[in-house]
Amino acid sequence: MKISDRILNLIYPPRCIFCQQLLDYRAGIHICGQCFSKLPFSESTVIRTGGDDGNGCCDGAISVFEYTGMVKESLIRFKFYNKPGYYMTYARLIADKLRKLANIREYDMVMSVPLHKHKEFMRGYNQAYLISKALSRIIKLPERSKVLKRERYTEAQSLLDRQKRNQNVKGAFSVRSPEKVKGKSVLLVDDILTTGSTLEECSRVLKQAGAVKVFAVVVATGRK
Ligand SMILES: [Zn+2]
Repeated sequence: MKISDRILNLIYPPRCIFCQQLLDYRAGIHICGQCFSKLPFSESTVIRTGGDDGNGCCDGAISVFEYTGMVKESLIRFKFYNKPGYYMTYARLIADKLRKLANIREYDMVMSVPLHKHKEFMRGYNQAYLISKALSRIIKLPERSKVLKRERYTEAQSLLDRQKRNQNVKGAFSVRSPEKVKGKSVLLVDDILTTGSTLEECSRVLKQAGAVKVFAVVVATGRK
């Protein structure tokens, strides 16, 4: 743990991101012992994405948790109730799982699913970008979120069924600088994976721009 993180923890004592209990200032991952023992860690290894036919552009995904109970509540606070600081713990957990299940050296960069400018302005931050930035520092890969751009505002995916979700995100993203991804392998970060339509659409435009591999990493997976 870096000295600067310790000092920050002394000024703003860390709290468990699940039950909000105060933790020791030396805590690197902000989860208390009780919560850790009952967290719904995702059993699955690599999740197959890219639709029913298996011919998608996203080459697979890993998720730390199931999207349920205390994880769901924590992610809702992270996104909608101004708790951006949770990103560090999520990023550390993703990095741990990646180290176990993937060969990080196969990848060239990390990037996040972009949020529409309007949404980012309202929220004050893009939650996936915060995780991506921290992850890139932990696993020592460059952060390239600027490469992906959200072209238009889309309806909240959670309100739509699978088919409508696919239509909703079609053409929603574009690649700003294709030369940056050409021939490269990308780790794509998002907070939640539900049907995978958003990750699939981002992967599609990245591959169109020449990316050879797109692998997704998320905090949680499941139905909203
Ligand atoms: Zn706790």
